[in-house]
Amino acid sequence: MNAATTAPIAAPTEARELPRLTAGQRALAAAQAQFDAAAQHLGMDPDLRAVLRVPQREYSVNFPVHMDDGSVRVFTGYRVQHNLSRGPAKGGLRFHPQTDLDDVRALAMWMTWKCALVDVPFGGAKGGVTCDPRTMSGRELEALTRRFATELQPIIGPDSDIPAPDVGTNAQVMAWIMDTISMHHGYSVPGVVTGKPLAIGGSAGRADATGQGIVYTIKDAAARIGIQVAEATVAIQGFGNVGEAAARLLHEAGAKIIAITDVGGGVFDPGGLDVPELARRFRAYGTVANTPGTKPIDNETLFALDVDVLVLAAMEGQITEHNAHRVRARILAEGANGPTSPGADPILRDRGVTVIPDILCNAGGVIVSYFEWAQNRAALAWTRDEVNDRLRRQILSAAEAVWDRAAADRITTRLAAHALAMERVAAATRIRGLYP
Ligand code: GLU
Repeated sequence: MNAATTAPIAAPTEARELPRLTAGQRALAAAQAQFDAAAQHLGMDPDLRAVLRVPQREYSVNFPVHMDDGSVRVFTGYRVQHNLSRGPAKGGLRFHPQTDLDDVRALAMWMTWKCALVDVPFGGAKGGVTCDPRTMSGRELEALTRRFATELQPIIGPDSDIPAPDVGTNAQVMAWIMDTISMHHGYSVPGVVTGKPLAIGGSAGRADATGQGIVYTIKDAAARIGIQVAEATVAIQGFGNVGEAAARLLHEAGAKIIAITDVGGGVFDPGGLDVPELARRFRAYGTVANTPGTKPIDNETLFALDVDVLVLAAMEGQITEHNAHRVRARILAEGANGPTSPGADPILRDRGVTVIPDILCNAGGVIVSYFEWAQNRAALAWTRDEVNDRLRRQILSAAEAVWDRAAADRITTRLAAHALAMERVAAATRIRGLYP
């Protein structure tokens, strides 16, 4: 048979289904669309645009791990360094089935803008392994982490690229990475990762830092539109590292959390959820679903709740052009990276939703990572109050710049945040000049 007889007959263009994009491809398209909009707004010159639109370095590894059943499984991992103009690369490592090169490229680019916006002296990076840590034993996870750390060794280090926790990773994973790199060096290298346990050079306040930063930016945004957080109703998507801390701290601040969803389902109580009890159940069962005394709720219903604050603390691409018109919250707090797609932004703007963009809202994590890295370099340990006080000042100074810029240029807070960040990265790139 020749190709002409085996090739499928193409349907007319209008009837043909568009190819389905992966979550990673959608995230990268979103990151680049945001970049293009801000570059356009800034009138950035085409040469600089071409440089900043793509990652500087991409590193892919395939590596074997002994599984508990005696088999050997080959995993794929990535580290993408988007831009190094302002300092060493910085960003988390994600262990998730959806992790692929495009996803990591998008997340690395967002880290560059985030670090620049909150003015920490880092470039942007992200990494991860395509895996489902929830189906792996502790031993398998440790073996995977240590081998991945070994594969990353040529490119990570306190002066070059400093990983941190992200979706599916935590302080224990950082401890294994720090130990593996230290074993290879023959001495402790605490500054190679941040988000470590306190016992080995972690910073007070780091575990809650992303959630704490979300709460600071929500309080700030709420005050700007005349809402008291102590009287606010809140819905939260996600109850992992970030969502749980945000829920707990908002609950402590007096807000009424009426809905939470996580990987296993969701809970709703218009009278207010018992957040500490949900945290206990999450630790015991890996989900808050089916908590007695609550009603079940799914993500789409949660997004449409009539609440003061909607916190997105899960994955990318949750609010899109398909569901943005249902959002009734007054404040949308982007605790996750890239939770709102570019098609949703004009709809949210027209609905009068106050968006706290991700690169501002969730920057508490990387701000305290910077404090941890700086403390490691100086062999110092700050108190939790000291850390939180510095975090509050640093994130609110960025927030103020974003609100001022949005007002001055009559643009959305997202465009303002990207414009501010990209100006700083562009300035650093320009003044360093082109080598050779
Ligand atoms: N993974 C976090 C983020 O997306 C923290 C990164 C870091 O601390 O380096 O911002």
